[in-house]
Amino acid sequence: MAGNPIEENRKLDSHLSEDGEIYRIRIYGDPVLHEKALPIEEITEEDYQIANRMLATMYSNPIGIGLAATQVGILRRLIVIDIDRDDPDNAPIVLINPEILEQEGESIIEEGCLSIPELKAEVKRPEKVIASARTLDDEEIVIEDESLLARVLQHEIDHLNGILFIDHLSRKKQKRLKAKLRQIRQEYAEISV
Ligand code: ZN
Repeated sequence: MAGNPIEENRKLDSHLSEDGEIYRIRIYGDPVLHEKALPIEEITEEDYQIANRMLATMYSNPIGIGLAATQVGILRRLIVIDIDRDDPDNAPIVLINPEILEQEGESIIEEGCLSIPELKAEVKRPEKVIASARTLDDEEIVIEDESLLARVLQHEIDHLNGILFIDHLSRKKQKRLKAKLRQIRQEYAEISV
């Protein structure tokens, strides 16, 4: 059973990995991944800390380009993205309460997820999005994009709503992935015992 969101947020330290520097990424099979995150009404020092730790957690994985707070068991509407992580001049994006305002077109791109290790699948989503969010400095911003950023934004906002990329696949495709998903769930259960 998933924890109460307020309880989840109070126990921030319990989300940290063993070395205490980065968060433990919740893996498929963890009920928190199906929970809806709560909007952040006031941005506090704690959100800065969460964002920094989330970035460190994302960068600790060599293929991470986006992470939602839900994936580290924190049910707040906060996501971090860095689609150009190998470019030292590129700054990561931290978004509070991100929301898709408009979407258009269609594209099929292969997606993966830090919460579903070693599984990739082609996902059909709108190609272009217009999204609004607040920055950590509490400024309202609007992002319009039709590249990889649009794709990552949709994937991460889905996480805040308890939706995984595999939920977008056809029944047939989901059936084909069933054994692999069961395996991931079992491995996770073994680790968490
Ligand atoms: Zn994901």
